[in-house]
Amino acid sequence: MNARNEGGAMGGVEELYREVILDHFKSPRNKGKLNRKTSSSEGLNPLCGDQISVEVLIENGRIKEIGFEGHGCAISQSSASMMTAAVKGKTVDEAASAVNAFKRMFGIAEAAPGTPVELGDLEALEGVKKYPVRIKCALLSWNTLQQAMSDAGK
Ligand code: ZN
Repeated sequence: MNARNEGGAMGGVEELYREVILDHFKSPRNKGKLNRKTSSSEGLNPLCGDQISVEVLIENGRIKEIGFEGHGCAISQSSASMMTAAVKGKTVDEAASAVNAFKRMFGIAEAAPGTPVELGDLEALEGVKKYPVRIKCALLSWNTLQQAMSDAGK
């Protein structure tokens, strides 16, 4: 038997990283609706069935509150939790830099000028690179945040 390791999406991800991802999946940060929001957006990843909605309260150019809801695979949901933890309290510009840095980790965005962003725990998701189909799962909430921020700027 030459069983292919497709079922285990986390298959090759190292143990430490797996723990970080599972921790965010089991105990998501900033999950739920906001009482007050200035913008929101929804994202879908039909390839995997992941769904994310992001709400933000932006005041004076800063993300004062952020909340997400959704369902889908562990990668999409833990990435959403990490995303909210990473950008909460940041300015919109800083959050945009974080989105760019996160995409750059997957080779998707060009290097942006300015100070490099410390991704911290988010680097746990770098292992997803080995599963190209899963990159969309990891990026879903980030693209959704980007959309919400862009809508807020209109
Ligand atoms: Zn997924």
